[in-house]
Amino acid sequence: MLGWRQWAVDERGGLRPAWTPWSPFPDDLLLWRPDGLTRAFCLRAVRDPRDRPGRGRAIPAHLRTPDQACVCGLYAWRDPALLAAADQPRWTRRPIVVGVVALGGRIIVTERGYRAELANPVAVLDRDGVVDPRYRAARYRRWESLVAEWAAPPPEPQ
Ligand SMILES: [Zn+2]
Repeated sequence: MLGWRQWAVDERGGLRPAWTPWSPFPDDLLLWRPDGLTRAFCLRAVRDPRDRPGRGRAIPAHLRTPDQACVCGLYAWRDPALLAAADQPRWTRRPIVVGVVALGGRIIVTERGYRAELANPVAVLDRDGVVDPRYRAARYRRWESLVAEWAAPPPEPQ
């Protein structure tokens, strides 16, 4: 299953959440992995890890991530029109890029898209070449080209 989303790009070209401020979380926690599948992590389990020094591992808020009653998971919109209509994040001055993710594992279907357990970027609109080359996602300079190649075709008329 494919979804459409935004990322904020860190100073090393890493893809990070566009809507969740990165601090106070540990540096690696919110980084989308360039070398494989990214796994959702429920932030309720680590709301502020610095409050609990030496207290061992945080206790998960629920057994499986994402959980229907929680807000966790790797988010994606279901189509490019919803992504195109979305606001731009304003909390960061880092570049924002958009793209397509392949979703897997446990997936919760929401009104406008998905919350997934696993995801992997498969295509990014990277006009300025800011995304770390280690991501194996296809690169696009034009939104129209990205949509033409990755959007589901409209349903056939009956
Ligand atoms: Zn959760």
